Amino acid sequence: MKKKGKVIIFSAPSGSGKSTLINHLLTLDLHLEFSISATSRAPRGGERHGKEYYFLPTEEFRRRIDAGEFLEWEEVYAGCYYGTPRAEVERIWSGGATVLFDVDVVGGMNIKRVFNEQALAIFVQPPSVEALRQRLVARGTETPERIEQRLARAGYEMVFASQFDAVIVNDNLTRALAEAEQVVRDFLHG
Ligand code: ADP
Ligand code: 5GP
Repeated sequence: MKKKGKVIIFSAPSGSGKSTLINHLLTLDLHLEFSISATSRAPRGGERHGKEYYFLPTEEFRRRIDAGEFLEWEEVYAGCYYGTPRAEVERIWSGGATVLFDVDVVGGMNIKRVFNEQALAIFVQPPSVEALRQRLVARGTETPERIEQRLARAGYEMVFASQFDAVIVNDNLTRALAEAEQVVRDFLHG
């Protein structure tokens, strides 16, 4: 893939606040655009195909893996595939914007390896696993089983923090939003 622009990666355990930080950054005048991933999981709440994700049946997801359509993909939770379509990066770069990714820690490191210094990899760290539990319960989007599945993976994911370019502790949300904005501005203008 020709590297024609910059990319910013957000990775963290589920419930850390990635989407909250990303949605804030997208409201700023930074010329960022969200890379819409594909997933084999079902939509939840008000999620729409082509907005939060491209929702695909597992068979179609596998066909696209075989066709080489993904920049990276992972089976993040048993039976749930997630992947970054190469076409998203092309689409966003051709519009002149910087690509914003919300991907799991392994996907984040894989994307960093592809784009190197053109990539800023940010790890969003929750104050504790207990705080994650409370946030996922309060968010009200997951079944109790899915919350446990996500918490079970959180410890493994936290170990990756030191491999990222920046770590933002999302304890106080106002501070985390300001920090995210600062590291992104430094990267874009530095
Ligand atoms: P992720 O995208 O990493 O799964 P979200 O952005 O959906 O996480 O955040 C999970 C939940 O926690 C949401 O309901 C969000 O409003 C809430 N949240 C985000 N940041 C904080 C914070 N600093 N303190 C308390 N709750 C927060
Ligand atoms: P959720 O089901 O909560 O939307 O996402 C679950 C996890 O999958 C999160 O850690 C999210 O960042 C990750 N994820 C979403 N899209 C992708 C992707 O394209 N690739 C990878 N590797 N992970 C993804």
